[in-house]
Amino acid sequence: MTVEKVKCLIIGSGPAGYTAAIYAGRANLAPVMYEGLQPGGQLTTTTDIENFPGYPEGISGTQMMEDLRKQAARFGTDIRFGIATHANLKSSPYKITIDGNKEIETETLIIATGATAKYLGLEDEKKYAGMGVSACATCDGFFYRKKVVAVVGGGDTACEEAIYLAGLASKVYLIVRKPYLRASKIMQERVMAHEKIEVLFETNTVGLFGDNGVEGANLVKRWGESDEERYSISIDGFFLAIGHHPNSEIFKEYIDTDETGYIITEGSTPRTKVPGVYAAGDVADPLYRQAITAAASGCKAALEAERYLAEKGLL
Ligand code: NDP
Repeated sequence: MTVEKVKCLIIGSGPAGYTAAIYAGRANLAPVMYEGLQPGGQLTTTTDIENFPGYPEGISGTQMMEDLRKQAARFGTDIRFGIATHANLKSSPYKITIDGNKEIETETLIIATGATAKYLGLEDEKKYAGMGVSACATCDGFFYRKKVVAVVGGGDTACEEAIYLAGLASKVYLIVRKPYLRASKIMQERVMAHEKIEVLFETNTVGLFGDNGVEGANLVKRWGESDEERYSISIDGFFLAIGHHPNSEIFKEYIDTDETGYIITEGSTPRTKVPGVYAAGDVADPLYRQAITAAASGCKAALEAERYLAEKGLL
């Protein structure tokens, strides 16, 4: 296996990874970035981003990531295709295996591997990706003003997104597979009392339809083992809110994570319990999950890496 030594390794290429790269590059850390499975991260799956400060007309997710990539490259980040497949954070320098066949030894590590939104696994979710299917109400809800949308899920995220969307859309269906909501009591009460939200309990989605994007969903309502009713609803947007999966597996042996797998950092810093190893963006953020908050934590991680290297006399 080939071995390469670097000062700063960044894994992941969403707003957290790219922002860390811009700061680390400008601080002469000669950062190396591996882009991961989905170069550009989750934002490349949304439509327009209208809530990132500085873009009065909005910008497409793909374009923003392309711009961030160029900005990171301009300041010297070595951006590479590849996936981190194994990590050994026992002692510094830390060893990260890329694609199972290359080892990077790094003094500092910025984990910006993000979180992956869960989907139901329907073919139609892929077919209508960016054409009515979304896993982010805050990102895409604005495009559904005065339209009819459905949200899938029964947890706090689904309730929050249903309420958020109800402020924009004319009607929101909340599709819940169980006969009850899992969300906190207060969120349940708000959802049940909202005049624009209709909760469809014990209901599953089996398909979507529409000629120009999503125009409806095919549903199955089940009572007991065998009794079921199949019907469809007309909708313009279909939002998934059935949870996220933080991409932290390969680091879990060495750093703290919560029960879902989100990396736990020290207070409001991106420091993990391993010196020189930082976590930025959605992999460490179950709460906000925004491009701007991810970018901010990427900035903090690079500043921390710079200070750490300076203190060790490695700059
Ligand atoms: P949760 O895991 O709490 O809820 C996921 C929901 O999606 C559940 O209702 C689950 O159903 C449903 N679901 C999962 N898979 C499927 C499927 N294949 N088909 C249909 N439905 C499915 O995730 P959340 O993202 O809502 O929340 C994650 C954590 O973050 C929670 O601890 C939550 O409390 C917290 N949170 C807190 C907020 C706040 O305090 N403001 C806001 C948002 C989240 P089932 O119940 O049947 O398993």
